[in-house]
Amino acid sequence: MKKVKYIVSACLIGERCRYNGEGKRHAGVVRFLRGKRYFALCPEMLAGWGSPRPPVQLHGGGASKVAEGKARIKDNQGRDRTASLIKGITKALRRALSLEAREAILKEKSPSCGVKRIYRDGKLTPGEGLFTHWLREKGIRVRSEQSFGVKRSRRP
Ligand code: SF4
Repeated sequence: MKKVKYIVSACLIGERCRYNGEGKRHAGVVRFLRGKRYFALCPEMLAGWGSPRPPVQLHGGGASKVAEGKARIKDNQGRDRTASLIKGITKALRRALSLEAREAILKEKSPSCGVKRIYRDGKLTPGEGLFTHWLREKGIRVRSEQSFGVKRSRRP
């Protein structure tokens, strides 16, 4: 498999993988990646959730607490989706490591991909997503699409 320098949240290059069945193409990210070696992935699609799907949030703590089993990921109907998301994120992480990616460009505010802010316990809160947390632990540099110009959006 060809190595890449970057991985990117698939929604940022326009893949329709978000909870609402849409993509979130970011022109600055697409422009930056042009001509570069990158691989797009979506941990929530790798969890087998499909799109559209019920949105999820962190409950009871941040990503590190979820990783320790002390906080949970739940959907908007209160169903616990922690184990399932961890499976998807594990697949995404393995892919990033096997491709030897050194940097990730990720979608801000997502419970999986958020870099500085996430939805937690019903509020937009400082914190990182679960995928972001594990990427950082593996030494992969992360930044959000907002490094390439801010666009207003209400949800991940
Ligand atoms: S933010 Fe991450 S998990 Fe959410 S749709 Fe985009 S790639 Fe998938």
